[in-house]
Amino acid sequence: MDKQGLTTIELKKINKGKVYHYIYKERLTSKMRIVTDLQMGLSTVSHNLAILEQEGLIERNGFFDSTGGRKAHAIRIVPDVRISIGIGILKDRIHLASVDLYGKAVCMDTVSLSYSNTESYYRKAAESIERFIDGQHYKKEKILGVSIAAQGIISPDGSSVTYGAIMGNTDMKLTDFSARLPYPCRLEHDSKAAAYLEHWNHETLDSAIVLLLNQNLGGAIITNHQVHQGLTMHSGTVEHICVNPDGALCYCGNHGCLETCCSANALEAAAGMPAGEFFPLLREGKNPELSQIWDTYLKYLAFAMRNLNMVIDSPIIISGYLAPYLIEKDIDFLIKEINQSAPFAFKKEHITVGTHGQYTPAVGAALFYIDHFIQSV
Ligand SMILES: [Zn+2]
Repeated sequence: MDKQGLTTIELKKINKGKVYHYIYKERLTSKMRIVTDLQMGLSTVSHNLAILEQEGLIERNGFFDSTGGRKAHAIRIVPDVRISIGIGILKDRIHLASVDLYGKAVCMDTVSLSYSNTESYYRKAAESIERFIDGQHYKKEKILGVSIAAQGIISPDGSSVTYGAIMGNTDMKLTDFSARLPYPCRLEHDSKAAAYLEHWNHETLDSAIVLLLNQNLGGAIITNHQVHQGLTMHSGTVEHICVNPDGALCYCGNHGCLETCCSANALEAAAGMPAGEFFPLLREGKNPELSQIWDTYLKYLAFAMRNLNMVIDSPIIISGYLAPYLIEKDIDFLIKEINQSAPFAFKKEHITVGTHGQYTPAVGAALFYIDHFIQSV
């Protein structure tokens, strides 16, 4: 193929991508709007629409109201032409999520399964994933891949877990899953997957600190629209910031890590009940002991937020399992606590609360394949 031919093919691909990405962003549009906004010729747009429609990537979805003349077809992408599967691996269960091209969690489920670094565990995990996919009647070719968010630091090449003190999954390998599933697979640190989802939902944020209030605390740093990985992949592990050298023992072997004060486990241990019971009782406002436990929790969280803001002057996103339980009053409390001792005022509008709860890492992990697919069109 000569140079000219290659350029033409490239140009065609670029135009097709432009049209697709425009429709994707607009969500619902018409042929004439594409022509106008992309300043592309009508015949080029028609041609690309025909290709995209033929490939099943877009569809006509009703008509726009017309003030006269022929009504314009409403055009949109087909959001579930491809699906990505996100998995969150925890000590005693796995979270499963199927995610469409808009990053929407179409289906979520939890399966009880105790982790052990054994052949039997990985077989059962793979079976659960297959069952989850089959249950939604997805054809194999629809599935872009299975992205697995694990508690633990992942090797820079993504092939294994290099630090997994919580679950004892150090040396968990990508092949433990990929060898048992007929899809592309990848491993990701759960906190970073969660941060990916939060960035997806707040894409205008150039940088942010993400606090993942899961059973075990997690964190991640977003800078320059990227989740910061770090020299040895542990950037943002705020859970091991020491807040009290004489404090309780953390699973990492040290004392008084933020994990021991601000993980959902720490809160539930202090309260003697799961979060699902704790918060309704707390909100009744009749139990001063529970209010005390919650205030202490928030004070430690504010302490961490105040200090982290000195390192990265950015919004803070509170995400994960406990996030949906937080109410306006809690955010006001955090702001008051932060600003009591901070040299620079931290504004309430710079705190964002995530909405995906315990499924945050699974949904966030799935976005990797979605992003990849969208970019590839
Ligand atoms: Zn620790």
